[in-house]
Amino acid sequence: EEALQDAEAATKSCPTWPKGYFRKSAALISLGRYEEAFLSLTICMYLIKATSKSSEDPALSQVINEMMKIFHKIFLQSPVTGSTLKRHTSEQLQFTPYPSTKKLNGRTDRRRQGYKNWSSDLSEYSSSGDECEQSMYSGKSCSGWKSSRSNHHHESISVTHHHSHNSMGPNYTHSSSPLTEQLNVRLNRLFGRASQDLKCFELRLKGLSKGLRQTSPALISGSDVECSLCYRLLFQPVSTGCGHTFCRCCLERCMDHNPACPLCKTSLQNYLANRDHSVTEFLESAIRSFLPNEYEERLKQHLEELNAVPSAGKSLDVDIPIFVCTMAFPTIPCPLHVFEPRYRLMIRRCMENGTNKFGMCCYAADGEHNYGDVGTLLEIRNIRYFSDGRSVVDTMGCRRFRVLRKSMVDGYNAAKIELLQDRPISETDMPIINELHDKVFKEANEWLQSIGQVRRQRIHSHFGLMPSPTDDWRDSPDGPSWTWWLLAILPLDSKAQLAILSMCSLQKRLECILKVLTFVKNRMNSLGGEETQPEQQ
Ligand SMILES: [Zn+2]
Ligand SMILES: [Zn+2]
Repeated sequence: EEALQDAEAATKSCPTWPKGYFRKSAALISLGRYEEAFLSLTICMYLIKATSKSSEDPALSQVINEMMKIFHKIFLQSPVTGSTLKRHTSEQLQFTPYPSTKKLNGRTDRRRQGYKNWSSDLSEYSSSGDECEQSMYSGKSCSGWKSSRSNHHHESISVTHHHSHNSMGPNYTHSSSPLTEQLNVRLNRLFGRASQDLKCFELRLKGLSKGLRQTSPALISGSDVECSLCYRLLFQPVSTGCGHTFCRCCLERCMDHNPACPLCKTSLQNYLANRDHSVTEFLESAIRSFLPNEYEERLKQHLEELNAVPSAGKSLDVDIPIFVCTMAFPTIPCPLHVFEPRYRLMIRRCMENGTNKFGMCCYAADGEHNYGDVGTLLEIRNIRYFSDGRSVVDTMGCRRFRVLRKSMVDGYNAAKIELLQDRPISETDMPIINELHDKVFKEANEWLQSIGQVRRQRIHSHFGLMPSPTDDWRDSPDGPSWTWWLLAILPLDSKAQLAILSMCSLQKRLECILKVLTFVKNRMNSLGGEETQPEQQ
């Protein structure tokens, strides 16, 4: 039912779109309303034929295919055929007398041209179409139509069964059987309605095209389609339930602060919650066709603005957006709860310009508004939105960077950065670092085993399992992943974490981690495992 409503809305708002009618027919078929489905398909076919350059449009054969299926359904529904035969026995007794041949012929003559087109389309299809449809129709119905087309004294469409060994038995195969007659009448009515519907549709189309021609482009100016938020030509216009239209990015920025229509203050909570801020296609295509130059100019403006905002991943000459919040480490997941309007905007821009990356820095110790000079690039993996516009952004740590110059854009921080990279390990240092690497890894595992299951599980659920050392850690710009995982979970304050994050010597980092591990182990021993005691109970 909903699909039907959608399709009907589509055919109303865009009456020349063949697909709308095709979808409507699909919805009607699934509702068992085959005849209405057929009527919808005839309009679909008319539109395809009117616009298609080739007579072998694949859409056309799709439509014919659907029509064949509908006929099949109608045949099955009819008492003449199929399993419904027995259930309709009582109806057979109540047949009305045959409609007078004269009356039928009269109707037929007026529609003959239309029938010819239909039946030729169908028979063309049945001779070239797929085997299954062919065997189902060509022997019975289509050949019936073909043979009767040449005979003007009979119904131009009559359903007859030529196979004497038909499973229905001799009573039902005779062409003048009341049952086949009933089917004929039903099909006649259907074809009659189809041709009437088409005529009405043609008239409606003429009316529509006249209506369009009356609109002179000279009467439309940019101020008619201006966004009341940015006072520019609407770009990617979206319309709210209250009937107001804005540029999509303008409205989204407003809703970051308050989910209400900026003009009439109607709540847009539902609009925000379903997140389907589809562009109003009619308005956009109207703008493009009536104001092509203004539209081009506006598009250029939009792209320039998008390029001008800080973005990570394009080039290091461009500032990158900075999220000031927490400590993030390379290769370690960092889930973020985004609720501040400025960061909603920042994340949206990251997604829109396709970089999906931003820098993460933590607050500096010396003040709320300052942030540390070293941070980690985060890549957005997934965003889950709440109905009020807040979101949980799943990110993964990438490269480390040092901030060279800080700036502000639309309320959030941005910075020019340089990437940090571990110094290459020299041949002479290699054995020392290899040994240190293995030792710290072993110590870390021992410590993990000693902290108790509950605490370990909590760590695993937040940060995942500790990564195993990979073969390429010596060549990685950030060293082995497991060291960052350990830094994220070890009880260190952000100042100490930041100091280790900014070290570009793997050896120094490993030594620091070893020191911390030794410290926490000693403390645990001196407290007699008190730290873990409550959790083990
Ligand atoms: Zn705007
Ligand atoms: Zn409004």
